Amino acid sequence: MTDKTDMTDKTDMTDIILLKQGEIVLKGLNRREFEDKLVSNVKRRLKPFGEFNIYCMQSTVYIEPQGDCDMDAALEAAKMVFGATSAARAVACEKDKDAIVEATAAYLKPQLETARSFKVESKRADKRFPMGSIELSQYVGGTIQDRFPHLMPDMHMPQLLINIEIRENAAYVHGPAEPGAGGLPIDTGGHMVALLSGGIDSPVAVYMMARRGVRIIPIHFFSHPYTSQMAKQKVLTLAKILSGYCGRLTVEIVPFTEIQEEVSRHCPQEYSTIITRRFMMLIAEKIAAYNACTAIVTGDNLGQVASQTAQALAVVEECVELPVFRPLIGFDKKEIVDRARIIGTYETSILPYEDCCTVFTPRRPRTKPRLADVVKAEASLDVKALVDGAISGIERV
Ligand code: ATP
Ligand code: MG
Repeated sequence: MTDKTDMTDKTDMTDIILLKQGEIVLKGLNRREFEDKLVSNVKRRLKPFGEFNIYCMQSTVYIEPQGDCDMDAALEAAKMVFGATSAARAVACEKDKDAIVEATAAYLKPQLETARSFKVESKRADKRFPMGSIELSQYVGGTIQDRFPHLMPDMHMPQLLINIEIRENAAYVHGPAEPGAGGLPIDTGGHMVALLSGGIDSPVAVYMMARRGVRIIPIHFFSHPYTSQMAKQKVLTLAKILSGYCGRLTVEIVPFTEIQEEVSRHCPQEYSTIITRRFMMLIAEKIAAYNACTAIVTGDNLGQVASQTAQALAVVEECVELPVFRPLIGFDKKEIVDRARIIGTYETSILPYEDCCTVFTPRRPRTKPRLADVVKAEASLDVKALVDGAISGIERV
């Protein structure tokens, strides 16, 4: 049996992270492809925190530090990777029932001291291990209870769930796992462009589509000098926060001043927002074509503002062929705000810099525009020249 001081040292040295796969386990023949993406995404995300051996086995991603690693930061980063439902730090120990008890007692000591009830669950991937999983759980549970007599076994609602896994190279012990980001690994759902304003909604929309495995190319329409450099910086800050989930993001910043001025000069005010939105769609579709994107994502939400009635949304998307995805369409504002807080974009989104649309907002926008009227209203504009002009001025950051 290992002496306790030794064990503490050993636990410090052999702490690893286990990530449990989510929906990937439901995949059929292409499951390997999803797992490989998940592993390579985890590898890329953990690079700044040290050298790790990362691999996938039986629906779990193993993250093993090789030498000195920042395990706290690695766990936080791993929890943000789409494709995993939970993350837990675990300790490795010898594949021996008493070594497992010692590891459990040392590694989970604070939890064992404070919990009132517990349960041990064992999984035995290495079938050569001499005890069955139920037998092992009973042995570890009984011995732990002798040492922490206040603990009551509870098979249904334990306060502390102790997990034991017997694997090829070692046994692992861990407490309750923390929630992972869920969804599917980035790059398994193709590419899409997303209209990213500096508001609360569109960053959440980007997050939600990325969570379905989509690689996002954010587009921001920038109306200098009506909107300031600070407003642009805010969008870049949002993109930076989102890249913690979405992987590297290159924002396409489209100069939009000329289009907005032309629309406000030549088109009836009641249609100016709708026409401006149609320009955004046309430009987004061009950028999508250059980047092999299959859809356009926006942060629209039914009924929130005049340009987000069903009729207005239909007129806006009429000018493009690509599908337009609006993941927030049925959310309440409060639900969007809650999500923005969780993903960490809210505080940046509420910074008070103006958006190009607010600067040119008409006093009486049409809430039920008719397509024919809108087409007529924009007839005096040289749409193609304006779109090409904006595209040629794109800055990529
Ligand atoms: P958000 O909080 O995302 O700005 P919102 O409720 O303020 O949304 P609008 O300003 O009407 O709604 O914009 C609707 C959608 O149009 C946004 O969610 C975004 O996808 C897109 N959009 C608006 N302005 C811009 C912009 N300047 N650059 C890029 N996309 C934009
Ligand atoms: Mg907005």
